[in-house]
Amino acid sequence: MAYQTINPYNNKVLKKFENASNSELEATLATGHALYQQWRKEPATSRQATLHKVADLLREHRHTLAVTVTEEMGKLIGESEAEVDLCADIADYFADHADEFLQPTPLTTSIGDAHYEKQSLGVLVMVEPWNFPYYQIMRVFAPNFMIGNPLLLKHASNTPSSAEAFVDIVKEAGAPAGSLTNMFISYDQVAKAIADPRVAGVALTGSERGGASVAKEAGANLKKSTLELGGNDPFIVLADADMAKVKQWAPQARLSNAGQICAASKRFIVMPDKYQELLAILKEAFENVKMGDPLDPETTLAPLTSMHAKETLQKRVDAAVAAGAHVYYGNEPVDLPGAFFQPTILTNVTKDNPSYNQELFGPVATVYVVQSEAEAIALANDSSYGLGSAIFSEDVAHAEEVASQLETGMTFINRAWATLPELPFGGVKNSGYGREMYRLGFDAFVNEHLVVSA
Ligand code: NAP
Repeated sequence: MAYQTINPYNNKVLKKFENASNSELEATLATGHALYQQWRKEPATSRQATLHKVADLLREHRHTLAVTVTEEMGKLIGESEAEVDLCADIADYFADHADEFLQPTPLTTSIGDAHYEKQSLGVLVMVEPWNFPYYQIMRVFAPNFMIGNPLLLKHASNTPSSAEAFVDIVKEAGAPAGSLTNMFISYDQVAKAIADPRVAGVALTGSERGGASVAKEAGANLKKSTLELGGNDPFIVLADADMAKVKQWAPQARLSNAGQICAASKRFIVMPDKYQELLAILKEAFENVKMGDPLDPETTLAPLTSMHAKETLQKRVDAAVAAGAHVYYGNEPVDLPGAFFQPTILTNVTKDNPSYNQELFGPVATVYVVQSEAEAIALANDSSYGLGSAIFSEDVAHAEEVASQLETGMTFINRAWATLPELPFGGVKNSGYGREMYRLGFDAFVNEHLVVSA
């Protein structure tokens, strides 16, 4: 596994990184463990100013940090800047709320006074993907920094520069050594770290395969894990949907981040009366994208993160078509050197088609027409994934009833997916377990320590 920065816009190798040795890994675990012991004696509020400082520095270096991401994994510069802003907001949120989240909870019992308090657990390993290189780190770093769990970061092998840039900000803010250590380590070294007695748990965001492998190591070593995995999210257009709202949200629900978002809408499920209109909405938006340099603010569709990602997506689309899917729009080669993929709309994807239950990680929408709301719900739930979902209907109370029938971790009514620090994020089924963000994310790695006084 080689950690390197390759610009997917032009395939230029910008930087290569040396893998860390086992002795460097040992040193990181020792530093982290010593910090955990020290932090146990200090209140979380002692770290509040440092986390606010992280937020301030992110805002101060917004553009430079955004360029690093754009040059490394290809996303549009405006999207990279928005990611930096979101990270700053997450840092501020957990800095502001940690004290409240850590308050002891009184319990009623017949044997005396009782409460539980939240304690830190120890060093955590975090394994993160490339699609939001800063945001994925911040979701785990901000709460655990406040709780007092030091972090060892293993970032994706194609986003090492972003990992380094994030850690530099944390250092510059004055966080002690060991708070967040980025390491260029192998899968074996990740397993070694998980097995180490000083490590209390592991948080992974990524694919099912990566998640299963890391969770297996965690299970074998009786360590807690959280998994934020892929999705094949439905976008359900009910009979009474306001198509102006559908037009506002559907294209960006599929095309943001060049379609490489776990919780992006991937399966558009629509009632017959709205089918042609939905196809027209998507087609018009897909036809009008401007592919090009993601550093150019005029560009509206970025390359995928790597040539490998493009090849993987192409193979999946080819297999879908070979199995009977119709290309309603797109799937033509793009005459640019980078990892560009033409936005594509597939219809007639039947249950026996491999793409029916596959995450198409790029700007490819599959559109299904259904005859009833019950059929829409059944199709939405007929997936091994269960991350997010969207419902469009002018009867919000009814849409909320439909939402209750969906086997997903999140549902958005009359808008596309969103992520904010005050909203829990995560899924069910093969989309993983556990939540990040909000109080639920904060509680992922704490010891709920019961104290009873007779
Ligand atoms: P991936 O291959 O699983 O990689 C994610 C991270 O896991 C990388 O750092 C990768 O390292 C590491 N990894 C993979 N296998 C490992 C193993 N056996 N041991 C240790 N580390 C391992 O995922 P991806 O395909 O690049 O990322 C995209 C996926 O992430 C999509 O499915 C997307 O939906 C999902 N995702 C989910 C969420 C969510 O919150 N639910 C958010 C974003 C993305 P290397 O890079 O070195 O291989």
